[in-house]
Amino acid sequence: MVKRLLRYLGRGRWSRLRQAAGVCFPEASFMAIMEAQQGFGPFCTLSFDCDFPRDVEALPEVCSLLEQYGVAASFACIGQWVQRYPAEHRCLVEAGFELLNHTQTHPNLYHPDYAYARGADLSRKRFDLLVPREKRAEIEEAHATFVEVLGYAAYGFRTPHFGTLHTPEVYPILSELKYRFSSSVMAGASPRGGIPYQAGGGVWEFPLSPCPAHPFGVLDSWHSLSKRDPAHGRPGELTSLFVRLGEQVQGRGGYVNIYLDPRDALDSGELRRILDYLRHSGLVVLNYADLLERILADPTRHLFSGT
Ligand SMILES: [Zn+2]
Repeated sequence: MVKRLLRYLGRGRWSRLRQAAGVCFPEASFMAIMEAQQGFGPFCTLSFDCDFPRDVEALPEVCSLLEQYGVAASFACIGQWVQRYPAEHRCLVEAGFELLNHTQTHPNLYHPDYAYARGADLSRKRFDLLVPREKRAEIEEAHATFVEVLGYAAYGFRTPHFGTLHTPEVYPILSELKYRFSSSVMAGASPRGGIPYQAGGGVWEFPLSPCPAHPFGVLDSWHSLSKRDPAHGRPGELTSLFVRLGEQVQGRGGYVNIYLDPRDALDSGELRRILDYLRHSGLVVLNYADLLERILADPTRHLFSGT
């Protein structure tokens, strides 16, 4: 019954009702999303959003931890911080990690409730409310900054704050810039149950995984650790949810795609716990470009046919 209801809501524009169903029936809603992923993978991608200077300062330590565990990862970077902190970003490129264009200024970075987010240099505009010309400028400027400072030509993108601030208006822009993918949509709101899909103009979208306890939200460190009254702040809780997701995907197929904020993931110990789990899990962890190659090389196995 719940499954049927969710399937029905999933077809329409009933996002508020879908979220209400997720609150009332989290387990059934989580399973409904994950069941739609069966037959894909299993694969895992791990990414970091380098939004604030405190995150950028954590990068060398995050980078060396990932190298120690031999885990591939992707980093969504902001042009203005690449200009201000070139060395911290250069170490990512030198270690072979993938960088995503996260715009030049990360619109809407300012937040009055958090000391680290009150800087006068932080944007107060919303990305989704920028006119198309401004959106394009944010993406183009970050691209040029990466090339100029790091000698790195990005081919992947993440919308600032993704989810509800993401807009399909970016796909034609990304397509024109020869970008190959974005990772900006929530699995619960995606048309293919959370597995990667072609979003338009040859650009692929890699949806972010649901939180098993809040399936129409995303399992990430902001939701779990960073925001005021975090949803999963007890030590080990975020990792337990990640393990729940990973075991589900390993057992039935599917896709784990989570993002973490470098500073909080590191300081909380959750990053190390997640890496400890991944080391023994047998999950295949790739960066987005390598996953895309795998999908394109074997479409009959990995493409979701839909129902
Ligand atoms: Zn949650």
